[in-house]
Amino acid sequence: MAQHDKSSSEHQCCGVFQEAADKSMKKREERRSKPQSWAARKATILFLLGIIGYAFYVYIGRFCVPMLRDNAGVLGGKNIAIPFLVVFCILGVMMLWTYAVVIFTGPGYAKDHVDPSPEPVVTNFIPPFAASVDDLSAGQYIPDPPQPDDNSTNRTVTDVSEKPDPNIGVIDTIRPAPPVHFQGSSSNGVVTHKAEPNGVGHGSDPSSDQQPMMFTRKPPAHPALNPEYRYCYRDKFVKPTRAHHCRACGTCVLKYDHHCPWIGQCVGARNQKFFVHFLQWALLFCAWTFGTLVAQNVKSSHRNGSIDRQQIAIIAFAGLFTLFTGVLLGAQFRLILMNCTTVETFNHTKMKEREKDKLSRLYSWYQFSAKRQMRKKWDNDWGRIEKEGHLWWLGSNRRNWEYVMGRHVWEWILPLGKSEGDGVTFPVNPRFGPDGRWRPRREWPKELQ
Ligand SMILES: [Zn+2]
Ligand SMILES: [Zn+2]
Repeated sequence: MAQHDKSSSEHQCCGVFQEAADKSMKKREERRSKPQSWAARKATILFLLGIIGYAFYVYIGRFCVPMLRDNAGVLGGKNIAIPFLVVFCILGVMMLWTYAVVIFTGPGYAKDHVDPSPEPVVTNFIPPFAASVDDLSAGQYIPDPPQPDDNSTNRTVTDVSEKPDPNIGVIDTIRPAPPVHFQGSSSNGVVTHKAEPNGVGHGSDPSSDQQPMMFTRKPPAHPALNPEYRYCYRDKFVKPTRAHHCRACGTCVLKYDHHCPWIGQCVGARNQKFFVHFLQWALLFCAWTFGTLVAQNVKSSHRNGSIDRQQIAIIAFAGLFTLFTGVLLGAQFRLILMNCTTVETFNHTKMKEREKDKLSRLYSWYQFSAKRQMRKKWDNDWGRIEKEGHLWWLGSNRRNWEYVMGRHVWEWILPLGKSEGDGVTFPVNPRFGPDGRWRPRREWPKELQ
């Protein structure tokens, strides 16, 4: 009995804790779902400008000027200081110019282009994660159907980075043709069709090597371009294609890529090009600052000169930002060459992961050739995931690049000109259906097959 009391009081105690944890989580969620205030969004800009100002002070005032005076022989003289200073100033001015342009150029907002409309009546909602009847009946990969945004309910309002948007899909399954003996096939994106019941199995099954098998890639079947798949329940309108709701900004952004705190707003259709310009010049500026400061300080330490701690601080900042901007720039180059946004890549990545997972379960790790053959067959039947199988692919990397960055080289490095299009409508890959369904190669226009 005593034991029972003890366990019940423990239970109660746990319950209280659980309740408190739930409450605080709910509060946190509520706080997170609210858009940030204007001041909070822009605060990081001031912080970054502060760091840049400090870098200018240290580099010029504590590094170049002493060298120019020629009274700091350990670091070097005028012959080094002048070129260092000139390059630093050019890169610094270019970086500040591009930073100003990207700060003052909005990404483009959907609310300026579309009127509010009533919520769509969804009669036949096909979740992007489940296209087959099997999936639906099994309850797998069914996201919450779209619901009105109601703060009084417990519905968690999330942004696209957390919840798959119906606009975008991942590989999913097709209904297997009987007889199929593949367990759990519907959850992995690739279904095995097999004439011979015994021939289908996991990679550990040796019989799987001996008999030819046929697997089918089945991309998402939801009509991503249809209005009901583009309705924003927070803004109450049908979003233009590729637009997504930014939680921090509290509105839908055209060709939403991501929200960047360093520029205090989103990167979208109209400022992605300038964002890339800024990253390019920031990378050069940081790398130059880091390289020259390190080189001279190493030299001076060899000569037993004292090391300026403020220069060390700037070396640390510059090194960190060189890495950061380098990685970001690489990611942006890749996205632009694919004509893809960060949000859209989630689905490509997911689809590739599922296929990889499926192949690793169907074949042994050393059966590289069989895996390659299977991928080749999928690509042949459907097109490559990030190219022919991407709704916004324009046909070549060059075309994708020019669409965003402009046709002239000077537009690629200077914050001039603008991206093609209005950011509201985009040319659709003709391999897709008019409603945005990914079609197999046999259904593509004749000239593209
Ligand atoms: Zn919205
Ligand atoms: Zn934003």
